Amino acid sequence: MPELPEVETIRRYLNASLPHWQVQAVVHLDERMVKHSPVGPEEIRDRLTGATFTRVERMGKFLLLSMSTNGALLLHLGMSGRLVLEDSVVPRQRHTHLVLDLGSRELRLVDPRRFGRIAWATRPYSQSLHLGVDPLSRRFSGQVLYQLLAGRTTAIKTALLNQQLVAGIGNIYADEALYAARIHPARVAGHLTREEVDRLARAIRKVLRVSLAHRGTSFSDYVDALGHPGANQYYLNVYGREQLACRRCKNLIQREVLGGRSSHFCPRCQPQLPPAVTTMVEQGARHAEI
Ligand SMILES: [Zn+2]
Repeated sequence: MPELPEVETIRRYLNASLPHWQVQAVVHLDERMVKHSPVGPEEIRDRLTGATFTRVERMGKFLLLSMSTNGALLLHLGMSGRLVLEDSVVPRQRHTHLVLDLGSRELRLVDPRRFGRIAWATRPYSQSLHLGVDPLSRRFSGQVLYQLLAGRTTAIKTALLNQQLVAGIGNIYADEALYAARIHPARVAGHLTREEVDRLARAIRKVLRVSLAHRGTSFSDYVDALGHPGANQYYLNVYGREQLACRRCKNLIQREVLGGRSSHFCPRCQPQLPPAVTTMVEQGARHAEI
């Protein structure tokens, strides 16, 4: 599933390539992909036709293709979406749900599993998306993350996937960041110490930046806007490495389902709290209740 580094890789290329190009025609728009949009498919066609791209932004895992007509085409790539800019002569792939004719080129959205989304958005975009802080923004820090997690009784892994807290992290980078910070994914989010959360915030930024430098992680579906896979899959420490040796301690990487999603971790590098510490935390919580 495309997460922040993959979507940002696509954004950077499109933002360098799309501005000033005009949509000559909306060749194809699959109406089933239009979800939670303030305007319907016909209106989206009308607003796109003849409009010129001005810039491409990203919010969490959403892409916003701003148009000269005041508003933006909002795209989410779901589980298997690809957004590619190709020469018009290149044959279209199966499962292509959006085709914008830009003259000699076409912008195409391909999504075999159709979990993606097409919508229209008007400024301020953040209002309708209900997204939390972007971990690559200046607003993000250990202190901010600590405040967001305070009082939360869910597992830290589940909290990291909540787009309303931190926007852009999915299963891959949540697992990788928790490993880098040596925090077990099932730990209670609100019980992490300030020091642990500082470590986690630094780890989140680091794993996202490293992946961006590798142009994202490709397993089966993700490719960038040129159709090329990323290379970060060769640098992952835990995700997809079940039963392989931990690169730090050689223990076997485990996979457990947590909150409906599989979590990959090293049980030695990311221990659950030792019993003595657990007891202290519980006593502290009881004191706090009294
Ligand atoms: Zn380990």
